[in-house]
Amino acid sequence: MRILVSGASIAGPVLAYWLTRHGFDVTVVERAPALRKTGGHAVDLFRPAMDITEKMGVLPRVAAVATGTTRMTLHREGNPRPLRVDLAKVFQATSDRHVEVMRDDLSEIYYEAGRDDVEYLFGDSITAISPDGEVTFEHAPARRFDVVVGADGLHSNVRRLVFGEEAGLTTFIGAYLAVLSLPDTLGLDGEAVTHLGPGRTASLYSAGHLDDARAVFLFRRDEPLEYHHRDVSRQQQLLRAAFSGMHPQVDGWLAELDGPGPFYFDSITQLRLDRWSRGRVTLVGDAGYCPGPAVGGSTSLAVLGAYVLAGELAAANGDHERAFAAYEREMGELVRRSRAFAIGAARSLIPASRAGVWALARGGQLVSALPAGLTRAIAKLNTGGVRMHDSMQVKDYAVKAVA
Ligand SMILES: Cc1cc2nc3c(=O)[nH]c(=O)nc-3n(C[C@H](O)[C@H](O)[C@H](O)COP(=O)(O)OP(=O)(O)OC[C@H]3O[C@@H](n4cnc5c(N)ncnc54)[C@H](O)[C@@H]3O)c2cc1C
Repeated sequence: MRILVSGASIAGPVLAYWLTRHGFDVTVVERAPALRKTGGHAVDLFRPAMDITEKMGVLPRVAAVATGTTRMTLHREGNPRPLRVDLAKVFQATSDRHVEVMRDDLSEIYYEAGRDDVEYLFGDSITAISPDGEVTFEHAPARRFDVVVGADGLHSNVRRLVFGEEAGLTTFIGAYLAVLSLPDTLGLDGEAVTHLGPGRTASLYSAGHLDDARAVFLFRRDEPLEYHHRDVSRQQQLLRAAFSGMHPQVDGWLAELDGPGPFYFDSITQLRLDRWSRGRVTLVGDAGYCPGPAVGGSTSLAVLGAYVLAGELAAANGDHERAFAAYEREMGELVRRSRAFAIGAARSLIPASRAGVWALARGGQLVSALPAGLTRAIAKLNTGGVRMHDSMQVKDYAVKAVA
């Protein structure tokens, strides 16, 4: 049985790995000419995704490239006294098993775990998918597949081809996100520097094995801003307008917008599809159920979704109708909880008011001061909140080759 996956970032390689373990023939098509290794940002793996990564035998490799950010200097806008936050304790409160890692490192590790058994087509993209599984590409000759999976991110090409234009399917949740790579002039070693003010948050971090640093900017807007997704200079202008004057350090980071470092800008958008399968096509990861980048634990959800989809296809012996229905059933509740979590996280990570800034900073201080066991015990009382990701249950799918 032949399965085509579009996208080789997180969901795509994890799905390809598990599909081949279950005995399927897998091709992955990736638009980029090679795996991305520049720019990028840190992502989180929480317990369920850590467990799946362990089953893939690559957990030690992931742990070896963890960002290792365990401390934060927190500046509150207008307040000259920075606070020290123990991020290790914050992470311990949110998850029993968590690692923060650069997305591109994680992608490479997942890709290498399965690449010997998977056909990868880089530098290509699907142009059409017919109901009987005939697929045309920009470059490769047309081929027929039994199942096609879109693992091609929030702005998914497969979703557009099969479900129509994005409009109406994505919901702006009131915030913007930008990431900029810049020289690590602060010599950050396990430390992040954050500036927090009403409606805006800017943070700088690095990782032991990186030569440079990443500045992450999050800011609120009630209404979507007007810009074209390819108009980088307009995006940079909007970012400057949102952050200039916040603090001399932040102004210094913004000055790097004129430098050569990779730059990313997007709205924090949530996908609200109730179903993400149609015919022999389904979606996985951000393509199907992105709760909002940077606020909803979407990387863990992508890993989980990929594992569940492969498992359900195997359990249904390749019957995609049964498998997709079971996959959507298994993921439905987790996706709904992740969406609710993301909206709450966007509100608290980018507080609207001075009172909100105070509450967030105070929370960080409290967690830093309490013994880790106590904070964890308090956090455990609320599985719909900070420990939502850890509370996700994953079925154990036996690995058996499909007939
Ligand atoms: C700035 C930023 C910060 C983030 N911070 C966090 C965080 O702190 N914690 C967290 O858990 N998550 C975070 N995320 C989200 C995280 O990156 C995603 O949830 C995760 O990467 C989802 O993986 P994915 O494989 O579903 O999609 P993506 O990582 O988006 O990958 C999609 C892949 O599809 C490829 N593709 C696109 N179009 C085509 C096409 N036409 N044909 C073939 N291939 C195509 C792309 O090149 C890419 O390789 C952040 C995201 C962003 C953008």
